[in-house]
Amino acid sequence: MITKKNLVLLGPPGAGKGTLSDPLMAQEKLAHISTGEILRGEVAAGTELGKQAEACMKAGKLVPDQVVADMVAARLATPECANGFILDGFPRTVAQAELLEEAMVRIGMKLDAVILFEAPEDLLLQRLTARLTCKKCGVAFNKLFAPPKQEGVCDRCGGELIQRADDSLETAKNRLKVYHEQTAPLIQFYEGKGCLARIDSSLPVDKGFAALLALLK
Ligand code: AMP
Repeated sequence: MITKKNLVLLGPPGAGKGTLSDPLMAQEKLAHISTGEILRGEVAAGTELGKQAEACMKAGKLVPDQVVADMVAARLATPECANGFILDGFPRTVAQAELLEEAMVRIGMKLDAVILFEAPEDLLLQRLTARLTCKKCGVAFNKLFAPPKQEGVCDRCGGELIQRADDSLETAKNRLKVYHEQTAPLIQFYEGKGCLARIDSSLPVDKGFAALLALLK
């Protein structure tokens, strides 16, 4: 049983935020808000927002702060977030963190914990470039560390597994650079607020999940 349920998962791409979100949301009935997943949905649906975001995403750059913050604020205000939520991949800049604070005050919510996922850079690149993502449900597998039972097919929904365009080596390197320049300052930001906890994301999934649960008690 966890007591901390309004969560931000912070960390570089490939650190396993999405991987550990899955069992956490299943076990604790938390809402999962992945800004990357929402944006990929908008791109696939060809919406105006998707069209605006697509070029940034392809280059591994960040989509403008206000655009993602508005998207998240709208989700947080829905009843599915009332029992708790996992923010995965948001905030990614200090400006986004400030917009999140404003939105939470408006809605009458408060963050319980920010979990920083830490892993060495070479492992992150290895994970990102071997990642396979389900076109239909968005769940991630990994050719090296967590292959699907049947090649090219999602274990969960039977959808087709693809390599995300931004998981190519060049774009993955750029995403890590963007993380260090624009997202890493959030470590100090949340440390200053006394709500940051760290997790070693080079651990295997079962050990990582146990460590995460222990932090959220
Ligand atoms: P992710 O699936 O979290 O790795 O996100 C994929 C891409 O979506 C990122 O490389 C960005 O282009 C965009 N994106 C996702 N979340 C954010 C965010 N909080 N702020 C800006 N851009 C984002």
